[in-house]
Parts: sequence; structure tokens; C-alpha cells
Amino acid sequence: MKENGAHFFFHAGETNWNGESSDINLFDAVLLNTTRIGHGYAILKHPVIQEIVKELQIAIEICPISNQVLKLVDDLRNHPGSVLIANDFPVVITADDPSFWGAKGLSYDWYFAFMGMASREDDLKFLKQLAINSIKYSAMEKEEKSHALRKWEDDWARFIDKFILLDSPTVITL
Ligand SMILES: [Zn+2]
Repeated sequence: MKENGAHFFFHAGETNWNGESSDINLFDAVLLNTTRIGHGYAILKHPVIQEIVKELQIAIEICPISNQVLKLVDDLRNHPGSVLIANDFPVVITADDPSFWGAKGLSYDWYFAFMGMASREDDLKFLKQLAINSIKYSAMEKEEKSHALRKWEDDWARFIDKFILLDSPTVITL
């Protein structure tokens, strides 16, 4: 929700614990009308918050590499994000605190989300949805979002055209 010109994106639930201030702050984030939740890692332990987040379409920021570096999870197949993705929650992939480990871009996080959290059945459609979510749940204003979405759709269409024209059958069978 936008209150007095501010979009609220609250970092909450970045923990493995249950019942601590570090996960109970998920309730604060929702009560304060957040439009995105940074991490929400502990959300699976709070079914009421899950319900509200889904109903209000509050985006959950999944940060694969950060969570692994900070030892919340070893094997990304066990990341709560895999459950959120399977249950069609509005998720976006982010880097959390990229400067801490000198991350150079978001592609690595996307790679790990795709390889470790998505289903083996998932394909380009999954990546497409993630890209759309990045725009849809961004801090941009409504008009900026539709402009960005149109621009992205053009780029996507060009990418697909190029992809289809590729000669290599191994690439096309992806
Ligand atoms: Zn963080």
C-alpha cells in the first residue's frame, strides 16, 4: 500500500527461528501495509500470514545466495521459496545485501532460483513470470510500470524470435 507517497517494502522473517522478533515481524510488516516483504523466509511457519500475503498479493523477495551465505539453508532445494513457488505466491528474486559478498548482478540469484527451487518441469515460462513480477511488484508508479512492461515485452519478443531462429536443435529442445 502506498501511504503518503511511500511504498513500504519491509524486511521481515529473515530467520530459521519460530516465535522470535525476527519472524514475528512478519505480522508487523503486514499490519503496516507492506507491498513487498524482504525475505519472508519464516512465512511457512505462519499460515495466517501466508493466507493474507496471497490474498493481498504481497510480493515475497526470495534471496537464494544471501540465505545460503548467511547459513539459513544449505541446499536450495530445501529453501521455503520452493514451496512458495509451487504454491503460486507472488515472488520476486533479489540479492538482499549484494555489496557484502561483491555480487555483480542478479543473474546468479535467478540461476539458483531456477536450478534449485523451481520444478524440473519449469521452463522459460517460469523465468518470464519472474521478470514480469519484477516489474509488477517494483516501486515504480503505475504508468512507469506499464511503460517498463511494454519495453520488456518488446525485448522478450525479440529474444524469443532470435531463440527460435537459432540453428541448434539442442538449444531448441530446452
Ligand atoms: Zn537481509
